[in-house]
Amino acid sequence: MKQYDVIVVGAGMLGVAHAWAAAKRGLSVAVIERSQQAHGATIRNFGQVLVTGQAPGMMLSHATQSRELWLALAREAGFHVRANGSLVLARSAVEADVLEEFAGDRLGREGYRAALLSSRELSQLFDGQVAHHHAALQGFDDLQIYSREALPAIRQYLTVTLGVTFITGTLARAAENGDVHTTAGDFKARHVFVCPGHDYLTLMPALFAAMNLEVSRLQMLRVAFEGAGFALDRPVLTGLSCVHYGAFSDLPTAQVLRDRIQATTPMLLDHGIHLLISPTPHGDLIIGDSHHYGQDAPPFNDEAIDQALLGLATQALGSRLRVVERWQGVYGAHGPAPFSVLPVDAATTVAVMHSGVGMTVGLAIGERAVAAVFSA
Ligand SMILES: Cc1cc2nc3c(=O)[nH]c(=O)nc-3n(C[C@H](O)[C@H](O)[C@H](O)COP(=O)(O)OP(=O)(O)OC[C@H]3O[C@@H](n4cnc5c(N)ncnc54)[C@H](O)[C@@H]3O)c2cc1C
Repeated sequence: MKQYDVIVVGAGMLGVAHAWAAAKRGLSVAVIERSQQAHGATIRNFGQVLVTGQAPGMMLSHATQSRELWLALAREAGFHVRANGSLVLARSAVEADVLEEFAGDRLGREGYRAALLSSRELSQLFDGQVAHHHAALQGFDDLQIYSREALPAIRQYLTVTLGVTFITGTLARAAENGDVHTTAGDFKARHVFVCPGHDYLTLMPALFAAMNLEVSRLQMLRVAFEGAGFALDRPVLTGLSCVHYGAFSDLPTAQVLRDRIQATTPMLLDHGIHLLISPTPHGDLIIGDSHHYGQDAPPFNDEAIDQALLGLATQALGSRLRVVERWQGVYGAHGPAPFSVLPVDAATTVAVMHSGVGMTVGLAIGERAVAAVFSA
């Protein structure tokens, strides 16, 4: 039976975070992944490491730590990272009120690194392309990764430089007390980190069943500018995201905004639509998203949702856009907290996200979980 110090189940964001944290400590590591390439939530995402969006306290602290880890990992593994922060655009006076309330009090008190742009700065940004907005918040700490390229680069780095073994096309059927039974035979480890994304049935089904978890299904598009466009150099959000992200969503002005959206464009709330835009390293843009919650992710995309997203992006960027690619993403949702790290037995830890911010906090989750086991 092959033995390692650490076995990680799942080669998505959380899996590679744990594998990196363990390999950096000189431990022998194997990653077991059911697909040949991990095609779960991670490669389908916006790649936003949205420090500015996280709720004060634990989430902000994880995001801030993850930011530093991302910069180090990108340097070592050689993938593209954009470190120009993020831009939250207010499409209306009500959205501007939320940004102003955040900037007036919470920003400084909780230690966010962000600032409201002056109207002059906003009018000059991208040669006036977003000047039609009421206000804008520039986050300084936010990063952006192109996940579909970064995840393979991380795997290559872990394999070649840190000696991690990837056992792919292999399903882990059971993990208990350091024994991992798979479709490619049995393995043993001093510790097993189970990072299965939103697969709640294959491993630890009783643990997950008791948590009443759901999944969130998102519609996503990659678009290109029609015509010349402009060089967007940072991820863009609008005030719509302020009713979703913990940095803003509990502010009194965010409730006013939620009521306004409900009164004017209920379809956006009904489908959980809020506009996020991530420029890829190749000049096009990832835009989304919508949120459909349930036990399963229905496979059928609603064209009305894609059209709403295109309309919002066209309006925000002041540019016409052409669809290049469409897909769905699914992530784990509706848990007891934004994520769970659960010791199952003395040699097994389960780490799963219950919210759509695994890129933002995942590296810190892996670092802390591995440190907790191996510094003890
Ligand atoms: C469309 C979309 C956009 C998003 N945008 C952002 C964003 O901009 N910023 C952000 O912070 N977060 C974002 N997220 C959330 C983020 O992508 C997820 O939180 C994160 O990727 C979850 O990583 P994971 O490793 O837990 O899951 P996954 O990436 O899904 O990986 C789990 C892996 O485990 C494997 N696996 C499962 N069970 C087994 C088994 N028994 N044996 C072997 N292998 C197994 C699966 O095959 C899969 O490859 C987004 C998510 C989606 C879907």
